[in-house]
Amino acid sequence: MNPKAFFKMSYGMYVVCSKDGDKVNGQIANTVTQVASEPALIAVAINKKNLTHEYIDKSKVLTVSILAQDTPLSFIGNFGFKSGRDIDKFKGIDYTTQETGVPIVTDNALAYMEAKVIGQTDAVTHTVFVCQVISAEVVKEGEPMTYAYYHEVKRGSTPKSAPSYVEIKKEEKPVMSKYECTVCGYIYDPELGDPEGKIPPGTPFEKIPDNWVCPVCGAAKSDFKKV
Ligand code: FE
Repeated sequence: MNPKAFFKMSYGMYVVCSKDGDKVNGQIANTVTQVASEPALIAVAINKKNLTHEYIDKSKVLTVSILAQDTPLSFIGNFGFKSGRDIDKFKGIDYTTQETGVPIVTDNALAYMEAKVIGQTDAVTHTVFVCQVISAEVVKEGEPMTYAYYHEVKRGSTPKSAPSYVEIKKEEKPVMSKYECTVCGYIYDPELGDPEGKIPPGTPFEKIPDNWVCPVCGAAKSDFKKV
């Protein structure tokens, strides 16, 4: 089996939210897809270890927000690299609620859907929830973020067994070292800097202020190691 075959598949980037009574949570997922149109059905695969999984499994309701290409890393980091067991992910985030009461994240969203689980299948590490969409709205026009764009452009890295694109870039630019966050795997590329964290492109890692934190997970500068 050639793992590179899977990189030819395309995915979006989504925030999937659910609830358990008064408790709510949301997480980043790339595995959301439409599976039928009449009725409108979507399939959502969620890791069993995640708190959102526990909530969907109990309440059988969820929402999906489709993220825009210009979604900041810090937003993705909040929903993707932190656990709702430790922090309130909705602090400072724009969201609304409708019929099910599950938060619908509208920040950085192009569109959203609210859905009820009508079936679920065990997928070893994950559960695939098949859901009937009960409402869907467009928030704004724009390019949706793809999973590939997130890895290659936003994070400055592709998954470990990734296509050749990053290797080609390295050969052309040997000067300043890249540094990797040991917590979340984010790569600081001096050529790109961290504009969201006010670090201009061309700033060597060594010149970044000590109070700078990982734009994805919030880890300290001292948690980075040279790539
Ligand atoms: Fe990090």
